[in-house]
Amino acid sequence: MTDQELGITESKEHSPGEWYAEVVQKAGVADYAPMGGFIVTRPRGYALWERLKNHLDGWFKETGVRNSYFPMFIPESYLEREKDIVEGFDPEVAWVTHGGHDELEERLAVRPTSESIIAPFIAQWVRSHRDLPMRLNQWCSVVRWEATETKPFFRTKEFLWQEGHTAHASAEDAWAETMTRLDQYERLYEEVMAIPGLKGRKPDHDKFPGAETTTTVEALMPDGKSVQASTSHHLGQSFAEAFDITYTDEDENERTAHTTSWGLSWRALGALIMTHSDDQGLVVPPKLAPTQVVVVPIWQADTETEVTEYAADLAAELDGEFRVEFDDRDERNPGFKFNEHELNGVPLRIEVGPNEVADGEATLVHRPDGESEVADREAVVDAVGDALDTVYAKLYAAAEETLEENVREAHGRGEILGTIGRHGGYVKTGWCGDEDCESVIKDEIAAEIVMLPLDEEVEPVHDTCGICEEPAEETAYFAKSY
Ligand code: AMP
Repeated sequence: MTDQELGITESKEHSPGEWYAEVVQKAGVADYAPMGGFIVTRPRGYALWERLKNHLDGWFKETGVRNSYFPMFIPESYLEREKDIVEGFDPEVAWVTHGGHDELEERLAVRPTSESIIAPFIAQWVRSHRDLPMRLNQWCSVVRWEATETKPFFRTKEFLWQEGHTAHASAEDAWAETMTRLDQYERLYEEVMAIPGLKGRKPDHDKFPGAETTTTVEALMPDGKSVQASTSHHLGQSFAEAFDITYTDEDENERTAHTTSWGLSWRALGALIMTHSDDQGLVVPPKLAPTQVVVVPIWQADTETEVTEYAADLAAELDGEFRVEFDDRDERNPGFKFNEHELNGVPLRIEVGPNEVADGEATLVHRPDGESEVADREAVVDAVGDALDTVYAKLYAAAEETLEENVREAHGRGEILGTIGRHGGYVKTGWCGDEDCESVIKDEIAAEIVMLPLDEEVEPVHDTCGICEEPAEETAYFAKSY
């Protein structure tokens, strides 16, 4: 392959779809599988997922969650016990009908989500109020035969995720749990992925099947579309009633529990790549980067030994603190190496040439914008730590600016349609609560209500519905979404 073929040829600004597909493949993140809608996750992509997973898993465990694992198949009769789940997922379920050559007596669903197989066990394991809260989580894949167009990580037919399932004594406890998980998702997006999120509720007609309230973290992509970045559901008592999750309270009365479920999938990787990467390739925040720092020696024949030794020594010192690669490949020139590490999203490059050796320094180059700084060799560990913090801050600031510039108010059908059509992003308006008013916008421009703010004190409800002008019940954020 020529250098040109190795690099990114599509433009993020002009053809975001093609650009995204190219970055994912050329940066070694994923490939398309032979079956439509499925992908193969390559080591660099999986390393990103592992780091996301480790952060979240640590926070879950600190807050009382235990991991477990349930079968990937769910008997049809189990799925049917909660009617909303059957109806909601029916068009997307993949079924196993045969084991070898024999037809099964009962079809098995490949789990699209696991409430129906986990709830019956929670029902067995919960006896009294002392067993509550019960908090289980599993890291696994699920299968949803998506009818809409698929896109690596954003929407695939099989996807990796975690699904948390909890049972509580009261509605208040279940609601607190729903919010704890939503806050952890938001924290993951902000602190680890450098993406600000918007927390809110989904409108009733867009709730998770069987849920009382579905809460969401939405993230705005640079092309103006919103991503449902993760969801946390307050399930009320519908699943507890369907699966008999009951407990005896302090007074020996039998009570029905309240449950929640919450999930974050590898869609987060899609949002990460789409938000930060550029026409040179992948850009990832330092906390997630498989390699955080690459040290590249730059020498002529007469300086090879001293430069290589100096650079090797520097890389060795950094190695204790950071994830470091020392790129001393003979067969590649520095320019090729720079391009390759940019393509692969290494956040910081350290260049060492004869000048750096002579002056006792190192040149640090930030991946997102190519800005360089000179650090003293003696203080290089601190300088690299600071530079990685700066890289994170730059990425977050850029994403935050995109978000702040792209929340607009609009009122009236024409203005709402015009604003989303011209700028993308979010349009905030009053909403009467009637799905028909959303359809007026959705049918014209494929934008929908992605989020209703949770806190009416922070976001007071508008007086009238932006579409029908009847009194408003909510403030709604409309956007096109992935
Ligand atoms: P849900 O169980 O429907 O609430 O889904 C949980 C989360 O998984 C959603 O918030 C999405 O971010 C993500 N998700 C849903 N469907 C897909 C899919 N087909 N591919 C990747 N991620 C998905």
